Amino acid sequence: MNAPLTMEASPRTETSEEILRDVENFCEQIRPSEELCYLEHRFNDETIRLGKEHNLLGLLVPREYGGRGADLRTYAKSLVRIGREGSGVRTLFSGHCSIGQLPIIAFGNEQQKKKYLPPAARGESIMAFGLTEPEAGSNPLEMQTTYRREGNHYILNGVKYLISNGGIADVVVTFAYPEGQQGRVSAFIVPTDGEGFEKEDLTAKMGLPTSNTAMFEMRDYPVPVENMLAAEGDGFRVAMTTLVSGRLSVAAGCLGVIEDCLIESISYAKERRQHGKEIGRHQLVQEHLAMIEIHRQASESILFSAVDAKITSDANPNDKELKRKADLLSAEAKFFTSNAAWDAADRAVQIYGGRGYSTLYRPARHLTDVRVCRIYEGTDEILKLKIAASLLGKDWEAFK
Ligand SMILES: Cc1cc2nc3c(=O)[nH]c(=O)nc-3n(C[C@H](O)[C@H](O)[C@H](O)COP(=O)(O)OP(=O)(O)OC[C@H]3O[C@@H](n4cnc5c(N)ncnc54)[C@H](O)[C@@H]3O)c2cc1C
Repeated sequence: MNAPLTMEASPRTETSEEILRDVENFCEQIRPSEELCYLEHRFNDETIRLGKEHNLLGLLVPREYGGRGADLRTYAKSLVRIGREGSGVRTLFSGHCSIGQLPIIAFGNEQQKKKYLPPAARGESIMAFGLTEPEAGSNPLEMQTTYRREGNHYILNGVKYLISNGGIADVVVTFAYPEGQQGRVSAFIVPTDGEGFEKEDLTAKMGLPTSNTAMFEMRDYPVPVENMLAAEGDGFRVAMTTLVSGRLSVAAGCLGVIEDCLIESISYAKERRQHGKEIGRHQLVQEHLAMIEIHRQASESILFSAVDAKITSDANPNDKELKRKADLLSAEAKFFTSNAAWDAADRAVQIYGGRGYSTLYRPARHLTDVRVCRIYEGTDEILKLKIAASLLGKDWEAFK
């Protein structure tokens, strides 16, 4: 049975097993609609409906704000399982829970948490994280979005581009510079339903058709002053801290993709016969299976090392060395698992032969979907540079 959805929920902490049981039920039910939507190339709104039904849209939100208060390990395990159903399904969770809700959980004041977290945890309000702009991707500090204060509002102007959940979000966490003056980036909690906020879905994607990706424009868009997140000028720190958790969510999803590629490949290799025997008896097919398994095992180790490092760092917020280690491991985990998932999906396609090239089968869908995991939340290149800078020292950052 699902946990109650209200803030009056029993204070009893749920076990990891209880949460993962709901995740399993969600995953079993989402598969048919996900396959259909993939083939029809459209957003799968069942992810939200079933996410609500199984009470999974506030996994990380503390129980006092209506969520399930899952620990980071349970959350990561949930996303691994959800990742098996496809990167499109998992991306909704990353956008909504990791990079959408987490900045409010980590940086919001009491009033902001009480207002925005309960409806988001219930899935009545969908969240997104809008950092990227047409002219500011790998270097978000090149953003052009601005804000100015007018009375009790900040007036925002700018365009955010390639935002997961951006077309369906009720609330986005977004970022801007102060207008017309030198100053640092600030973060804002922005409801998307007012005049001056326009969204446009971006559908010409090579994969991820079941996930919503959009751009939005804010034109003289008023946001109440109480919606500034963290202190004025602290937005870059909010963004970078959020991305560390976002990367863990991508890494978890990629491990799920590898697991599914392995499951599908083993089953097909035992079934399909060529040259008088099952293809799984051919040594070169076995090599593909062995490589996927090696990548699965290594990905699992690096993911949970990174999750443990983040848990330790969160418990010791003043320890800079623990934070450096957690940031480093999250970059390493995201880099490694996304490349491993790309390789695993490629090998699964190969095992399926000609059928592997068809999106009627899972390997091709994983292959086209998972490619984005080497781009969003830090490209391969930027992560490698971050990892090197973490070893050499901040002065050596090559991506400034
Ligand atoms: C489907 C999808 C969903 C997304 N969801 C979100 C979201 O929810 N929120 C959000 O804010 N953004 C999101 N993004 C945006 C994503 O984070 C950016 O696309 C990514 O950060 C790269 O930025 P860019 O596309 O501008 O590429 P660019 O920054 O223009 O980079 C192009 C290439 O140059 C390389 N490069 C750039 N600078 C350097 C350097 N200094 N050294 C070496 N190489 C470099 C990059 O690694 C890359 O290979 C999403 C993107 C996609 C495709």
